Amino acid sequence: MSKIIGITGGIASGKSTVVEQIRRAGYQVIDADQVVHDLQKKGGRLYQALILAFGTDIVAADGQLDRAKLAQLIFSNEENREKSAKLQNRIIREELARRRDALAAKEPLFFMDIPLLYELDYQDWFDEIWLIYTDEDKQLERLMKRNNYSSDEALKRITAQMPLKNKKKAAQIIIDNNGSPEETRKQLEVQLKRLEKGQPF
Ligand code: ADP
Repeated sequence: MSKIIGITGGIASGKSTVVEQIRRAGYQVIDADQVVHDLQKKGGRLYQALILAFGTDIVAADGQLDRAKLAQLIFSNEENREKSAKLQNRIIREELARRRDALAAKEPLFFMDIPLLYELDYQDWFDEIWLIYTDEDKQLERLMKRNNYSSDEALKRITAQMPLKNKKKAAQIIIDNNGSPEETRKQLEVQLKRLEKGQPF
């Protein structure tokens, strides 16, 4: 049986940075955001399901999903919001399970980066969950810089998620990303070595 590690964190806590380091170390990582993106592309399963549910009004002139229209439809109406969330949740979960099973057939150890792992209850998919952690002030500072947000915009997005300190209590391994990327990479190396030796956390 493969060992599967869940990677999570909060917005701008450093997940992509760590995932890049994990890939460079030679491991496979399934990126949930990328999977969602693929599913929403023209012709993708989610694209088709959303059009079935909400009609062709949500398609832009170039044939891709009109995200602004979809957002407007969803956030103006509670029933639509629930319908969309349920639909997306089901299809994304199915696709992630499909990719997990495909990778499990050939890799003894691999990773899945799921930003909303706790919020959407993916805990029991994993042998271990690693949290990419930063303090809130660092998270805010990096999010403002990366996305060019004001502090209000950044704070709104951070507070919409489960606080990192709550996730910290639940995760098995904490990778502290408050320091330099190199300091983070060193922590990662320790954990990867441990896994390679088959040692428990
Ligand atoms: P996430 O994928 O969790 O949203 P990112 O990996 O994109 O977060 O990191 C958020 C931002 O902070 C990016 O611009 C990234 O380059 C930067 N960053 C990440 N880790 C560090 C670090 N240890 N030191 C300095 N900047 C960092």
